[in-house]
Amino acid sequence: MQLLEVLLELPSSSLDRPFDYLCPDGVEVGVGFRVLVHFGNNPRPLVGFVTKVTPTSLSQPQLEEEKGYPIAWIDSVLDNECLLKDDLLSLSEALASYYLCPRIALLQAMLPSSLKPARSSLKGPKVAYESYCELLKDDEGGLTPKQIEAVRLLKERKRCKKKEAGSPAIVKALIDKGYLRVFRQEINRMQLSEVPRSEPFPLTGAQQAVFNEITSGKKEVYLLQGVTGSGKTEVYLHLSSFYLERGKTILMLVPEISLTPAMVRYFISRFGKEVAILHSSLTPAEKYDEYRRIARGEAKVVVGARSAVFAPLENIGLIILDEEHVESYKQDSSPYYHAREVAILRSRQSGAKLVLGSATPTLETRAKAEAGIYGFCRLDSRVNAKPLPTTEIIDLSRPSALLPSARMFSKRLIEKIKDRLSKGEQTILLLNRRGYASYSTCSSCGYVFVCPSCGSHLTLHKADMMLKCHHCGYVAPFDGSCPECHSPNIARAGYGTERVCRYLAELFPSARIARLDSDVSRIKSEAEDITFKMKGGEFDILVGTQMIAKGHDFPLCTLVGVLLADVGLSIPCFRSSESSFSLIAQAVGRAGRGERKGEAVIQTFNPTNPAITLGAKQDYDGFFRVEMQNRKAGNYPPYCHLANLIIGSNAAEKSIQAAAEIKANILSQGFPGVFCLGPLTPYFELEGGLYRRELLVKFKDGKGIKEYLKKLIDTLSGKGGVRLYVDVDPLDY
Ligand code: ADP
Ligand code: ZN
Ligand code: ZN
Repeated sequence: MQLLEVLLELPSSSLDRPFDYLCPDGVEVGVGFRVLVHFGNNPRPLVGFVTKVTPTSLSQPQLEEEKGYPIAWIDSVLDNECLLKDDLLSLSEALASYYLCPRIALLQAMLPSSLKPARSSLKGPKVAYESYCELLKDDEGGLTPKQIEAVRLLKERKRCKKKEAGSPAIVKALIDKGYLRVFRQEINRMQLSEVPRSEPFPLTGAQQAVFNEITSGKKEVYLLQGVTGSGKTEVYLHLSSFYLERGKTILMLVPEISLTPAMVRYFISRFGKEVAILHSSLTPAEKYDEYRRIARGEAKVVVGARSAVFAPLENIGLIILDEEHVESYKQDSSPYYHAREVAILRSRQSGAKLVLGSATPTLETRAKAEAGIYGFCRLDSRVNAKPLPTTEIIDLSRPSALLPSARMFSKRLIEKIKDRLSKGEQTILLLNRRGYASYSTCSSCGYVFVCPSCGSHLTLHKADMMLKCHHCGYVAPFDGSCPECHSPNIARAGYGTERVCRYLAELFPSARIARLDSDVSRIKSEAEDITFKMKGGEFDILVGTQMIAKGHDFPLCTLVGVLLADVGLSIPCFRSSESSFSLIAQAVGRAGRGERKGEAVIQTFNPTNPAITLGAKQDYDGFFRVEMQNRKAGNYPPYCHLANLIIGSNAAEKSIQAAAEIKANILSQGFPGVFCLGPLTPYFELEGGLYRRELLVKFKDGKGIKEYLKKLIDTLSGKGGVRLYVDVDPLDY
C-alpha cells in the first residue's frame, strides 16, 4: 500500500496543506500526478495533486491508529506521468511563501487548463479542434444587451471563433434562440515553416560588448537597458544561439504575443522547429500540444507571455524578459505573481542567466542594477547611430494652438501629418483611451451615463452603437436619446480612439487609417494583421492605445503624435508618473526606426511635468534621478516593499470593521520598519459583489511580517463572511 500526501483545490487558505490518502499497491502513482479523491462530506470528487508518496506495509486500520485520524482511499489516478518535475514543484513552494498564497493556486497557474489540478480540467479538450460560429439572423428583438453586442459583432465579421463572440452563456443563449450556428474545424497548427529562415546580423561593437559581459560575467541577473531601436532583439538572438550550442534551453518572455508577432517571427526564423509558442489566445488544445512538446524535450526554445515563465523546460541556460517594465507581467488576480520575480527564482534554481531588457526599466530594477546586485549593460545609441527622434511639446491650454474644427489636434500636429502624407511616410497617433467619447451627458437634463454595476462613466462606441463600461465590462445598446428625458441632445465629452479616427477621416479623406486598441484586438488575428500591414506600408496613419507604443518596429513611420499625454498622470498611484514617462518614451521611440529621421509631437495640459518633458527626450537617467527622490520622500518602492491587503464582504460595514481590526492587529505586533496605511476605499469599491477596503502594508524586510500575514490570512479567511486577499508587490497604489 502507498500513503499519499495530496494538495486539494479548496478555496479556504486554512486548508492549504496536504491531506493523507491511500493508494493500493500496483497502481502507478507518483509525485506530480493528479488523483481523484473525496473530501469531507462533499458528494462530488475533487482533483488533488500528489506531493509525496510513501510505501507502507501497515494496513489501513493500523495507519489510522498511528496517525489518529481516518484515512480514505483515492478514487483513481488521472495521469500516467508526472506533470511537474522537482524544480517546478519547489518553485511553487518558494512562490507560495513569497506571495502568501495557497500552493495549489500556483500549481494551477503553472499548468495548462486541461492538466490543472482542478475539476474543470476533467473536461479539458485534448484534441485540436476550434469552434467557430456564424450568424443565422440579426433582428434584435428580445435580446439582452450582451447578446446584441455579440450579434452586431458577428454581423460585421460574418464568422469568428466561438470564444471571441462572447461568454459561453451568451453564445449558448443565442444558439438556443436560433441566432447562431456553431461548427467545429480542425484548427491550423502553428505554421512554423511559413517563416523563411534568416541569418543573424553580425553584432555591432556595442552589442558584442553586452553579449560578452552577459556570457562571461558572474552575475545571475542582468539589466539590458537599451534605447528604443538599439538592437536588443539581435542581442537576445545571439545569446540564445550561444546557450543552445552549449546544449541548454531558452525561455524568451514577451509582454503579449499577439502584440509582438515580430519577436515570434525572429525566433522562428532563426531556430525553426525548436521553438514552441505559449500564449493566451491559443486554444486549450493548442496549449496542451505545445506544453506536451516542451515537456517531452522536443522544443528547446519557448517564446511566450507571462505564464510561459512556468514552461516545463529542463536545463535552462538563459531566460530573457523583454520589456521588463510592462505591467502585463503581473497577474492581476490570485496568485498575484509577477513573471520577473518568478524568473529570478527560476534562473537561480537552474543556474541560468536572466536578462531583463527595456528602454525604460522599472525603478526597482534600475536601482538594483546601480547597486551592483544585477549586472548592468547599456546600449545608449541606436543601431548604425541613427538619431533619436526630435520632439516638440504642445500646450493644450493655449486655444490658439488648436485646430478650431477638431480641438483634439494641434495645428502643428496636423501640419506634420499632412507633410508625411505628401511624402508617403507613416504616422502613429497614441491616445490611451478607446471608444468614441469618454463620457456622455444629456444637454437637456444633465443626465450622465454611468455604469449601473460599478458607477464608472460609460463610453459610447459608435461602431456598434453600444455604451460600454471599460472597468467592469457592462454593455447596453445606445438608442441615441436620454433615458431620463428622451431628449436626443446627447453631448459627448472627452474623446477616444474611435472619434479620433472619424475626425482624421474628415480631415484627410484619402488617407488610409487604421485603429488598434483592445476593441479591435479582441479578434486575435486582427491585431497581428494590422501591425503586419502597417509594417508593410499599407496604412498611412495608425491610431491606437498604449498597445501600439510597445516594441513594434515600423520602419516607414517618421512621425509619432501623443494626443493627450496627461491621461495616466491623474491616477492616484505612486507609479503613475513612471508609467506616463515610459509610455511617452516608448511611443516617441516608434518614430524614425527606418532610413529617415523621426519626429514626435506631444500634446499635453502639463507641459512642464518632468514625466512628460523627460519622456519626450527619452531621458531615462534624468527621470530616474527625479523620481527616485519622490519615492524616497514618500517611502515607496524601491525604498520599501508593499503588500496590499484586500478585505471584502457583502456589506460595507463588515469590511470597514474587519479592516480596522486587522490594522490594529498588525500594529500591535510592533514589527520594526513596518507601516500600515488605510483602511482606504478603493477607486472601485464594489467588485464581484464584494464591498472592499484596502490596507497598504509597507516594510523593509519581509521576514517577520510576511509570516505573520500568512497566519492572519489562514485564520481570518472566510470567517464571518469576510474574505482577505493579499497582493504582494502591487503594481498600482
Ligand atoms: P530594440 O528592440 O532595442 O528597440 P531592435 O532589436 O528592434 O531594437 O533593432 C532595431 C533595428 O536595428 C531592427 O530593424 C534590427 O533589424 C536592426 N539591427 C539590430 N542589430 C543589428 C545589427 N547588428 N546590424 C544591422 N542591423 C541591426
Ligand atoms: Zn435628459
Ligand atoms: Zn461598470
